[in-house]
Amino acid sequence: MTDEYGRNITYLRLSVTDLCNLRCLYCMPEKGIPQLSHEKILRVEECVEIARAAIALGIHKIRITGGEPLIRRGILDICRGIGRLPGLEELCLTTNGLALADKCQALREAGVTRLNISLDTLNPEKYRRITRRGRLEDALAGIETAEKAGFPIKINAVLMGGINDDEIMDLIGLTADKPYEVRFIELMPIGECLHWPQERFLPAETILKACPGLIPCDARGVAERYRLPGYRGTVGLIRPMSHRFCGDCNRIRVTADGMLKPCLHSRQEVNLRGLQGKELVAAMRAGILQKPLRHHMEEGGSDAQRTMNRIGG
Ligand code: SAM
Ligand code: SF4
Repeated sequence: MTDEYGRNITYLRLSVTDLCNLRCLYCMPEKGIPQLSHEKILRVEECVEIARAAIALGIHKIRITGGEPLIRRGILDICRGIGRLPGLEELCLTTNGLALADKCQALREAGVTRLNISLDTLNPEKYRRITRRGRLEDALAGIETAEKAGFPIKINAVLMGGINDDEIMDLIGLTADKPYEVRFIELMPIGECLHWPQERFLPAETILKACPGLIPCDARGVAERYRLPGYRGTVGLIRPMSHRFCGDCNRIRVTADGMLKPCLHSRQEVNLRGLQGKELVAAMRAGILQKPLRHHMEEGGSDAQRTMNRIGG
């Protein structure tokens, strides 16, 4: 369906947990977060019901996210249930990749069509520092297994001044022999990094300056895509800060506790809990009609009242 401003809403990001096995500096507090009681988290059937309602409203792409979706109990049931809904064209999942080596074949069989894997550095010690607990080798093993299982691979790297901007060429290097898309995402001032110093927030232009050989190829969704001559993969730039894409935004989000968020950066939420069938569709429609025209991040950061792991990044 179209929203109040004529944007066609076709994409749902569904968070299935706000918990995570990592504590990335920009996303999660070091101590983690208080665990929501079991009843507060959407059950498997509720996730599938929400997906069904979204499809009835014209959504044809769903991304499962979190927190870390692969640590959610029942993740395969959720994917299987959603994956077989008629009308769905793409079922994607965003993960830190640590559990992929074990789960990716089962995810494929459950109907997941695409994976985005987060990887901000190729330096093992820095990986540990950014994630506060992860092992780079586990993330790399996850990526390799996913590739072998036949998934098209997108790698998400959040660009952070003074932290990983010295690795731009190394990360682009991943596209030399592999058909990966390495996507650099501008750090957004939300949650844990809301008050980080300005020098951490670099425009995606930094990538083009660091690697002038990049040749534009096309744009896909929110990513502008580039390629280095002779390289198999592509480089994507995602610029939520420097190139606002609110005018073309086609997405809504649902949090793990069942709140529809029409915009990542707004505090507006619509409760979907306890609703079914026509009521659920009506509540989602009402939520879509509340989608604001634009965010106001540049005026003091995101207005969202949750950290990224609690929204579903
Ligand atoms: N745990 C999974 C993962 O890390 O891929 C899925 C959830 S995570 C919140 C989804 C994506 O949001 C990750 O690629 C992460 O790097 C990104 N992210 C989190 N906080 C961010 C921020 N402040 N600015 C930009 N991207 C952010
Ligand atoms: Fe976990 Fe993903 Fe947030 Fe990192 S970015 S703490 S992996 S939810």
